[in-house]
Amino acid sequence: MSHTPPRIAIGSIFQESNEFVAVHTELDLFRNTYVYEGDDLFQLAGTEVEIAGMLAVCKQEEAEVVPLAAASCVPAGSLSDACYGYLKEAVLSPLRDADRVDGVLLSMHGSMTVVSEGDPEGDMLAAVRDLLGPDIPVVVTLDMHAHVTRRMVALATALVAYTHYPHDDAYTTGERGARLLFSTLHGAIKPTMALAKVPILAVGCNGMTFGDGPMAHLERRARELETHDNMLSVSCFAIHPNNDQPDMGSGAVVVTDADPDLAEETARSLATELWTRRHGLLPEVWSIEAAVTRGRAIEGGPILLVDTADCAGGGAPGDSVALLRGLISLNITERTFVMVVDPDAAQTCADAGIGQQVSLKLGYHMDPAWGKPVTVNGNVRLLSDGRFLYTGGIFGGTWGAMGLSAVLQVGAIDILIMSRPTYDWRDEQYRSVGLHAGQAKFIGIKNPMNYRYAYKDVAKASFVLDTPGPTPADIRRLSYKKRSRPFFPLDDEMDDPEISVVVNQGGLND
Ligand SMILES: [Zn+2]
Repeated sequence: MSHTPPRIAIGSIFQESNEFVAVHTELDLFRNTYVYEGDDLFQLAGTEVEIAGMLAVCKQEEAEVVPLAAASCVPAGSLSDACYGYLKEAVLSPLRDADRVDGVLLSMHGSMTVVSEGDPEGDMLAAVRDLLGPDIPVVVTLDMHAHVTRRMVALATALVAYTHYPHDDAYTTGERGARLLFSTLHGAIKPTMALAKVPILAVGCNGMTFGDGPMAHLERRARELETHDNMLSVSCFAIHPNNDQPDMGSGAVVVTDADPDLAEETARSLATELWTRRHGLLPEVWSIEAAVTRGRAIEGGPILLVDTADCAGGGAPGDSVALLRGLISLNITERTFVMVVDPDAAQTCADAGIGQQVSLKLGYHMDPAWGKPVTVNGNVRLLSDGRFLYTGGIFGGTWGAMGLSAVLQVGAIDILIMSRPTYDWRDEQYRSVGLHAGQAKFIGIKNPMNYRYAYKDVAKASFVLDTPGPTPADIRRLSYKKRSRPFFPLDDEMDDPEISVVVNQGGLND
């Protein structure tokens, strides 16, 4: 290396999209979380996101950072073409204008979709390659729930993903990606890479990487494999199933040092193991009535009622009242918390004021395809601007914004009414309006997995509900059109599939 510091371009467009949600993602939704252009990207230093980890390694390496743009937002429907076009240009324009770039780090989700582009991460990589050519190393960090495509494997120098679910390792994933980039720049390694996929579309409910589930087994093996010679990075993937792209599947991406055969063999072996363990990914699901009956038989609380079908963290609008309607019809007398996104209802509560009675037609105003509103009469107990600080996870250290929010008390049920959906990490949303887990018998949860982490010390039991919505516990409720059959779990009786493999030789054969 010369004494000139390496110049590293850093950028990010990060969203987990959901093609089963009717409302498209516009720039406003990103702005609600963050859109940092140019030098503003440095505002992410000190947070817990990937870019903070990348920046820290760049500092240690005394590299010069070329800040491109970084944008992230809560999962939602596919990005509109205009939204993606804006963000893509925000990332590419400083790259085009840069005098010299020696390496690129991109923090992407991997399961983003755009109205007219099913593989925007591959599209971004193609655009970066168009500008920089094939030889500049480009390392991309991904979510473990990424849809990894052939194009991404072909165009990236290395793909590195989260190894933990719940995702408490965004920062360290950024560091890992950056270290791979610098080792490549220093000439210490020559990355080669392979992707192996099997046709598994799994919901997150049993996808945790702790305990005894399939991903936990895979993950432990991956960490062990990473200690072997020439092994640089082993990433296992369980795809976010709420998109509809032709070649969606789950498996592994393995990055090796100048050994594509080892990468392929290792990736194949992990994909095969996941196939063998696939049935463990299916959660046991409950009707609301059965879950409440079982919950009532358990002493104390809280009992978690997991309405994962309306998971804002998976792109759902958070406006479902299926659980609330069920609880009202069961005449719940135990103290219960539920949440719903309904901006008009929040405004009505604010207009009435704290302590006032209101009557509302609540829910299903954002995506009416999944149900009908429920009429409630209740007392406004609290109003909030809806701001809260994430205590960890992929938004750790950044602010969440529910918008104008209210707590409406309807009998024994406290309803948190929010104006905007937000990603669930722990219990920040409830806690920010004074609803503390220890006070409730039942708590409505709208995520498939993070609750295991948030409530692990307090919950007496949890039940995954078989409710309708764009992120259901049972994906047989969704109608896929582009993802060709057969795939698991829709075709449970299918034969063992051929493993789909893509290898990037890392220029070894050039
Ligand atoms: Zn994820």
